[in-house]
Amino acid sequence: MPDIELTILGSGTSTGVPMLACQCPTCLSTDPRDHRMRSSVLLRWNETAVVIDTTPEFRLQLLRAEQRSLDAVLLTHNHADHIHGFDDLRAFTFGRDRGIPVFGHPETLRWMREHFRYIWEAKQIGGGLPKVELRPVEAPFSLGGVHVVPILVKHGILDIYGYRIGDIAYISDVSHIPESSFALLKGVRTLILDAVRRRPHATHFHLDAAVAAARRVQADQTYLTHLNHDFLHGDLAAELPPGIAPAYDGLVLHGTSD
Ligand SMILES: [Zn+2]
Ligand SMILES: [Zn+2]
Ligand SMILES: [Zn+2]
Repeated sequence: MPDIELTILGSGTSTGVPMLACQCPTCLSTDPRDHRMRSSVLLRWNETAVVIDTTPEFRLQLLRAEQRSLDAVLLTHNHADHIHGFDDLRAFTFGRDRGIPVFGHPETLRWMREHFRYIWEAKQIGGGLPKVELRPVEAPFSLGGVHVVPILVKHGILDIYGYRIGDIAYISDVSHIPESSFALLKGVRTLILDAVRRRPHATHFHLDAAVAAARRVQADQTYLTHLNHDFLHGDLAAELPPGIAPAYDGLVLHGTSD
């Protein structure tokens, strides 16, 4: 039963916060917790390091976390804010014989194969390509001795994944959690959950929907992520009920595998 350490690498929505060209109070805030890179987490247990998503700030996020090796990538889905740092995986693959395994929904990985086709259809050697192996998953699997459970959720009309690793669950983009997935979240002690903004949203939980889902899951502690500039960290922290708090970049959490 290894201890799992989770670092929030980014807690921001697709634009990041501050958002380009915005001068709202959150975007002008000097509180470092209001500076949100795109949503991603790093998980470490024993000798294993795993990242969920490769955001446009992937390189900066991994430098900040002082992470010097990577054993696997879990992808939630193929939106730009979650995958556009994918090419920067190559620095972690220099000198490796085998590629880094990239796990995800079969549809997500089919799309990755098409979107990043230069990786698999390179015409000449040189310049360096990320060495990656796409591994579609539709059921729980083992990673470094720990049980990883893909949690199918609706993100608008898309079927995408959150992940449960031990007693921690991460769901960054979601507008509906099916009953079968609520069942997979039973017993989760730490939940990291999408709350994109204050007003309802077609493809994400807004604040009230996130709080309602968090109440249903009943984790000891829920952290809200994928936050936009509606939220000043200090204000949101003060208004949330006990057991629910805003995530912020650099936050470190702990869990246990089953
Ligand atoms: Zn997103
Ligand atoms: Zn703003
Ligand atoms: Zn998305």
